[in-house]
Amino acid sequence: MKQVIVIGSGLGGLATGCLLAKEGYAVTLLEQSTRVGGCLQSFYRDGLRFDTGFHFVGGVDANTHLYDFLHTLDLWSLPWVDVKAQDIYVGGELFRIPCGKEAWMQTLTQRFSEQTINLQIYWQTLEHIAQCPLQETLPYWEQSAWTWLNDTISDPLLRDVLSGASLLMDLNKERLPLFEYAEIMYSFFSSTKRLPHGGQDLLDRLLAHFTQAGGRVKCDAEVTRILETDGAVSGVQLADGERICADLIVSAINPANTMVLLCEDSKMRGVYRRRVSALTNEEGCFIVNAKLCNTTLSSPSTTAILPLSTRKEPVFIHKQEAPLWDADAEDVQHLMLYFYEDQPAVDVLCPMKWSSVEKWQDTTCGNRGADYEAFKEKVAQQCFALVETVLPDFRQQVEKYWCSTPLTWHNYLKAPNGSAYGVSKDYNNIATTLLMPQTPLSGLYLTGQSLVLHGIMGTMATAIHTVETIKSRHICTH
Ligand SMILES: Cc1cc2nc3c(=O)[nH]c(=O)nc-3n(C[C@H](O)[C@H](O)[C@H](O)COP(=O)(O)OP(=O)(O)OC[C@H]3O[C@@H](n4cnc5c(N)ncnc54)[C@H](O)[C@@H]3O)c2cc1C
Repeated sequence: MKQVIVIGSGLGGLATGCLLAKEGYAVTLLEQSTRVGGCLQSFYRDGLRFDTGFHFVGGVDANTHLYDFLHTLDLWSLPWVDVKAQDIYVGGELFRIPCGKEAWMQTLTQRFSEQTINLQIYWQTLEHIAQCPLQETLPYWEQSAWTWLNDTISDPLLRDVLSGASLLMDLNKERLPLFEYAEIMYSFFSSTKRLPHGGQDLLDRLLAHFTQAGGRVKCDAEVTRILETDGAVSGVQLADGERICADLIVSAINPANTMVLLCEDSKMRGVYRRRVSALTNEEGCFIVNAKLCNTTLSSPSTTAILPLSTRKEPVFIHKQEAPLWDADAEDVQHLMLYFYEDQPAVDVLCPMKWSSVEKWQDTTCGNRGADYEAFKEKVAQQCFALVETVLPDFRQQVEKYWCSTPLTWHNYLKAPNGSAYGVSKDYNNIATTLLMPQTPLSGLYLTGQSLVLHGIMGTMATAIHTVETIKSRHICTH
């Protein structure tokens, strides 16, 4: 039986490990942290549960090419809850964009009637790209998302509305490939769901499958070296010196961090090693996890008074006049609000550059100093001020809050520069930035959000791709 080590137990490692274990490989999952799950983990503050990197998921429906995967791992039977719409505030106006083609089209063509044909082209193109077999998608990887959007939609406000859920990716005019924009937007516009207990529901189900299929998990097991014998991988060494043998290694951590694990005399091709080490990563996030008083919030734009417990839609708020594409401001101009439906809690997420927190990188968690605490407080207040442009009494409803920055992700998950979504793809340079599961080193494979697409569905799709690649090259004999 082939012995496989998977490095990292986030969704990428766990999904890949599950599929390999079901195929009969003997899989050991190694996790540096004390807990499995990476971005799927939840944590508790004052008895409230907060999610880390799982809030809502696009593309969970019967037509998706992930159907078989969701079926195989019994993920359909999770208690998925439909998210009916996304609330997007652009230019001071609320756009409630429903999920599902017909309602989506009806709402947008009502408001932007002169763009009806353009909206049809927009949807058809997204649908076509999302349903394309992966091997036929190269032309869309090499095309600019911004140029295509600009050519397709002539109304600048509508372009912003269609990019308004922008916290799902970096809206970079010079870099973002059409494929990435189309896949992500289509998945969320066509069908969005959430889980009552967030990422923990998914994590528990995957973990149960993994162990039932014979997989083993080891926490507190930081891989510090990938070992090689005769030009192929032969195992790993952990931080405590333990060595574990393997026929194959699948690295589900950031690819640049994988390159750091190779020995100096590794048989990995230098050119590949240098290319992967030099890749740029997406930005990180600043997050406020807030405990709310058990009351209601009014929204003047909708004139509705919505009890918190009934709010299920993610809310995206963009400051008036602030550009959505190539946003580069120091202060908070774009954010997402995520209300927990079963508890008086909300997450506020906004993009944050590594340069904003870099000066504290040599400090340790809990001991970063008064200036770091003051910085977090300043940004939290900016977030609240932006929220109050649409929910005026928001600050009064916040009883208590806790903040995290890209340093937190850098510290807990070893994400380079606290990046939220891993490697950035660049349509000008797709051959370099789009990574495949196989590497030039015999027996070493990659998986996780940095390869093809990030996000829950993107990382699962990548896991399938990695497992197909391994199966085609290493037939498992029981
Ligand atoms: C704030 C935030 C919000 C998000 N919200 C959503 C959302 O609502 N919907 C959505 O679809 N996507 C969302 N995402 C994206 C999604 O969570 C990720 O794309 C996905 O979970 C990444 O999974 P992964 O396995 O590739 O990486 P990770 O979850 O980062 O897993 C990597 C694992 O490797 C471990 N590790 C690192 N180095 C080592 C080592 N040397 N040895 C052993 N273990 C190691 C880490 O501890 C970690 O557990 C969000 C992400 C963030 C950051």
